[in-house]
Amino acid sequence: MIDQYQRTIDYLRLSVTDRCNMNCCYCRPEGECFRGQEGSRLLSLEELYQLCEIFSELGITKIKVTGGEPFLRPGILSLLRRLKKLPGLSSVTLTTNGRMLWDTAEELAKMGIDGINVSLDSFQPDVFSSITGITNGKAVLDGILRGMDRALELGLPLKVNTVLMRGKNDGEIASFVQLARERPVSVRFIEMMPIGEGKRFETISGEEILMRLHAMEGGLRPCEKPLGNGPAVYYDAEGWKGQIGLIRAVTAPFCSSCNRIRVTADGKLRLCLAYEDGVDLAVMLREKWSREAMKQAICQAVFAKPAAHPLDGWKKEMSRQDGKDMWQIGG
Ligand code: SAM
Repeated sequence: MIDQYQRTIDYLRLSVTDRCNMNCCYCRPEGECFRGQEGSRLLSLEELYQLCEIFSELGITKIKVTGGEPFLRPGILSLLRRLKKLPGLSSVTLTTNGRMLWDTAEELAKMGIDGINVSLDSFQPDVFSSITGITNGKAVLDGILRGMDRALELGLPLKVNTVLMRGKNDGEIASFVQLARERPVSVRFIEMMPIGEGKRFETISGEEILMRLHAMEGGLRPCEKPLGNGPAVYYDAEGWKGQIGLIRAVTAPFCSSCNRIRVTADGKLRLCLAYEDGVDLAVMLREKWSREAMKQAICQAVFAKPAAHPLDGWKKEMSRQDGKDMWQIGG
């Protein structure tokens, strides 16, 4: 699919639930942890699969499964297995908080999942607890780290996504550097986006993070070959097994090369994080639209994908939008 600005849209982020077993302070309002849309409002697994089939026929080649926490969706592994067999897809990946990674890593490796992103903001149990709202932070954190080890042992491509907050976890940059140095992991610092709860936090710019990285790691250098298809810019140093990436979604938006669309767990097609839901795909599926009619409606909506996040600042625009936050959109 090509949009009105000649961008090729080939990447879908598919949310399979808006429930989560963490309550990250910049993502979910307090007390929302396990709450989410239930039952028939959510797309069924079959509906999710049908949509992916349609999208792959329309030229989507990469699907990232997200949430909420995708592992809370019953049947998620069987959906992933089916997606892996879908002709036309070159990559099926998933993003998770890692709590259930240890239990699932083997199945994921067996089905040939193309990559796992683990969102992890701290190695310090007390800081981890205060960010995620998890009371037994140490046990959960240990479990996540064991899950990551297991995934690496099984040869699964692993990325770690980290959002830095001043005075909370920004003192831990060195620990994330250590992870990239010692393990074949891409650690990516994502700028805090002023969406939902994220509006309450300062965005630490990628530029500042890069300066701090240079100060602690003399030989830091840009990676020669671009890694992955996403917007991260990567750095490493002599002898590192992994690399560090910066995703500057706020201070250096990558809208002109944006190749992604999103589908929420209740079936809304979303063309840009900063704008309201687009077409209601759940209605189309349930009203039994023909495949051709659905494809036409999707292409029309995708063609109209907005040029960019509002240039006059996210905060203003975000306060006008429909109220869907990161946990409902899927990040
Ligand atoms: N539960 C899964 C996980 O932890 O990866 C998937 C959902 S989570 C909403 C996806 C990503 O969005 C996480 O990496 C999280 O850190 C990120 N995120 C949430 N709110 C954000 C914000 N305001 N700014 C930047 N990233 C955010």
